[in-house]
Amino acid sequence: MPEALTVVSVSAELSPWFKVGGLADVAHALPVALAARGHKVIGVAPRHRALDIAWDTGRTARFTLFGHEHEVSYFHATIDGVERVFVDHPALRRGGIYGDDNGAYGDSLFRYALFCRAAMEAPAAIGQPLPEDGAGTVFLAHDWHAALVPLYLSARYRAHGLRRHARSILAIHNMAHQGTFPMEVLGGLDLEHRWASTLEMGGALNMLKGGIVAADRVVTVSPRYAWEIRGPEAGFGLDGVLRMRGPVVQGILNGLDTREWDPANDPHQPAAFDARDLSGKALCKAALQQDLGLEVDPGRPLVGFVGRLDAQKGVDLFLRTLPWLRQQGAQVVMLGSGDPRLEEATRQAQDPTMRAVTAFSAALAHRITAASDLFVVPSRFEPCGLTQMQAMRYGTVPVVAATGGLVDSVRPYDPYAQSGTGWLFHPGSAEDLVMALGNALYTWVHWPDSFREIQRRGMEADWSWEQPAAQYEQMMQQALDSGPWA
Ligand code: ADP
Repeated sequence: MPEALTVVSVSAELSPWFKVGGLADVAHALPVALAARGHKVIGVAPRHRALDIAWDTGRTARFTLFGHEHEVSYFHATIDGVERVFVDHPALRRGGIYGDDNGAYGDSLFRYALFCRAAMEAPAAIGQPLPEDGAGTVFLAHDWHAALVPLYLSARYRAHGLRRHARSILAIHNMAHQGTFPMEVLGGLDLEHRWASTLEMGGALNMLKGGIVAADRVVTVSPRYAWEIRGPEAGFGLDGVLRMRGPVVQGILNGLDTREWDPANDPHQPAAFDARDLSGKALCKAALQQDLGLEVDPGRPLVGFVGRLDAQKGVDLFLRTLPWLRQQGAQVVMLGSGDPRLEEATRQAQDPTMRAVTAFSAALAHRITAASDLFVVPSRFEPCGLTQMQAMRYGTVPVVAATGGLVDSVRPYDPYAQSGTGWLFHPGSAEDLVMALGNALYTWVHWPDSFREIQRRGMEADWSWEQPAAQYEQMMQQALDSGPWA
């Protein structure tokens, strides 16, 4: 049994309360899995709005940023073995996570700098201060919002002889979001000027770049994506920096919260099912067809999509395949929210065989995942992707773009070897998506036994956090065993 570690996980999102995408799921489930392995895990998130599950610790802390002192307070709850700490400040408590109807909040840099400073003191705020030398402590910072954590650990703690044995890991969930700001605001961050070059990229302050350079280790959400981001297409300008950190950049495929995503026990479904008996899945399909006003017909293939409506997700490609899918007699259900133009285009595509819901609804996401026969993930790039794993767990066969974590999680169906769990197609190509959907539908119609085996393989695979958490643990231990990077 490895030594018990103290892990401080810092993220802007946290499922189920503050969720935009997969980051929230990971920020919830990875700490639970690490705690189950015997580690002490403190998960810190902003208190975007009041939560009745967390109580006010009465503890406050003050930090100087942008020339003023700011006081935060801390709320606390212990859930599933994880200490959850919510940092409270008026700038963080606005309801929206990243912005409102007018777009991203204008003071994002201040919000996240304050959040990072406060998160690093969260253990003391709940009466569990870290050892002064930081022994056995790992800060796990998720995405650019938490990317100042590795910098502050180096600049404000280790450089002053504090927490010198603590290590930091930056977890990258999406290279497309880097947090860039004008160089002039550097002075507000309470960092010595020598850190400017760490944060500078192309004449701007780049939070993600600062995190990549300062962290002791960098992890991203799938091995394939860890490789892709070392190249210019997926690296979004930071591929050179990632190549430089090469030896300490690794990919670990996310898991799923298999309690939340369990076809045998899912409160959102009208019927339960498992890999041995799929009869409940047919009931889920009929109920969804009925509730969405589609013809209730088990003989019509139902194709599902759930995801953020964003150019990254390739929603436009999928919309282009709809006339063809209609000709094949398929029904389509789409759930997503995001870009107003893509929301409008999705709604416009509705007809008697296609239903679109442009909202965020965990219940409907579960129902579409359970009810569909096929599940499309047409992303142009996809760091990990959780929806294809959720689909496979529910016996819904994924048709996915061959990119990032989709490649690591979906094995192509091989009719000769009778192996594989889905179909893959060339990212960005609507024509190739049609080809893949054609093969999938052909198998569904003409080779039901083979299709059934594809479903079974997907359902029986281990999508839990058990393996990934063991890999995270190993990386953390290696980071602690090595010297600090910066
Ligand atoms: P990303 O993190 O890029 O958004 P992922 O596939 O990693 O993509 O994670 C998306 C998560 O958000 C999944 O848990 C998915 O079920 C959920 N999700 C996405 N869109 C919606 C929506 N409109 N309503 C409910 N859940 C959604």
